[in-house]
Amino acid sequence: MITIVGAGPAGSYAAYLLAKKGKNVRVLEEHKTIGEPVQCTGIVTKDILRYLNPWKGVIINKTQKVLFVAGRKRLILSNENLIINRTAFDKQIATMAKRAGATYSLSTKVKEIFKENQNFTVITNKGLSKSKWIIGADGPLSLTARQLDLYKNQQFFKTKQVLADFKNDNVIEFHLLKKGFAWIVPESKSNARIGVATMSFPSVEFNDFTNNLKIEKVHMTNGGLIPIFHPAGFRQKGLAFLIGDAGGFVKQTTGGGIVQALESARIASQSILHGPRYFLLWNLLLTPGLLLHKLVYKIMHSKNNEELLKLLNQKRVKKILSNVSRDNLVVMAIQLAFAEPRLFKFLI
Ligand SMILES: Cc1cc2nc3c(=O)[nH]c(=O)nc-3n(C[C@H](O)[C@H](O)[C@H](O)COP(=O)(O)OP(=O)(O)OC[C@H]3O[C@@H](n4cnc5c(N)ncnc54)[C@H](O)[C@@H]3O)c2cc1C
Repeated sequence: MITIVGAGPAGSYAAYLLAKKGKNVRVLEEHKTIGEPVQCTGIVTKDILRYLNPWKGVIINKTQKVLFVAGRKRLILSNENLIINRTAFDKQIATMAKRAGATYSLSTKVKEIFKENQNFTVITNKGLSKSKWIIGADGPLSLTARQLDLYKNQQFFKTKQVLADFKNDNVIEFHLLKKGFAWIVPESKSNARIGVATMSFPSVEFNDFTNNLKIEKVHMTNGGLIPIFHPAGFRQKGLAFLIGDAGGFVKQTTGGGIVQALESARIASQSILHGPRYFLLWNLLLTPGLLLHKLVYKIMHSKNNEELLKLLNQKRVKKILSNVSRDNLVVMAIQLAFAEPRLFKFLI
């Protein structure tokens, strides 16, 4: 038996991959409805297609341009992004997992997990059960991590976001803030998801950011925590694994973690099925890119960022920024360093 805590993208994708290979998988989710409440903006790169084909209704918009604003500097990139409906997306992956044979127990909150002999004992609001394997896919405040003494001392961005009527040109806007960033992500030309992620006070930053925006009617306000990746720390102990936000696999530059949630689910599942150690796979396939995002975040928030933006604003550099996915930052960094060697100094 493999027990997965959490039915977000990470948990359900792992459930799908493992059930498809004949494993006995059950997913425990505290909420009564998968994909709700939404605490996400839902921008993804086309890298998502490496994992699954979104069903009809999952992709609600596509944008071709991103405007990056840092103080008085502006950089416009041609860059395709998909805007997804997170509830529909989470439901799609859960349906795929169920069809492959995984069972789901909703309204089931895991309260305690401990190892006893060869098995984990899992205590929920509905009772007690045993499991040989545990996958913690329970988001930024992972109870699995705390109970099993895994990945610790997590730091977070705090966020505030609204869905509002807001006229726009179908361009994603990304603004650098002193201690984080802000975004405008169009759902259509008449409404957008507008929010901030900050290490300071999200409501204050949100008010500052939106002060001069012509927001019409606000339909929904939400927020949540975004983990800040750090390379140290264990995401595996014996037959217990942490994936997705529970393992802190999020890009610090943008707060995006959906693609990384799917990738960590994929490599954890591979480790369960075929034996190579999860530790090696996440350090090989996820850590380098996420470390680079950490470095870029630091540079963008340093005093040097004006010089960097000037270098990035050149035609040949913009072409790379436009064509290579930010989910493939290692490749992007290598191409950039060759196209504009002066960028090297920012990387070391
Ligand atoms: C405001 C905001 C905007 C974001 N925007 C983007 C974006 O545009 N693009 C992007 O790629 N990423 C974005 N992210 C990050 C993205 O939402 C996460 O990286 C992604 O959801 C991680 O998926 P996950 O499955 O690991 O965790 P989650 O989606 O958090 O799922 C965890 C699940 O576990 C359940 N759970 C938790 N504890 C328990 C328990 N004890 N028992 C049972 N169930 C439990 C939760 O209810 C939840 O359903 C954003 C995050 C925030 C907060």
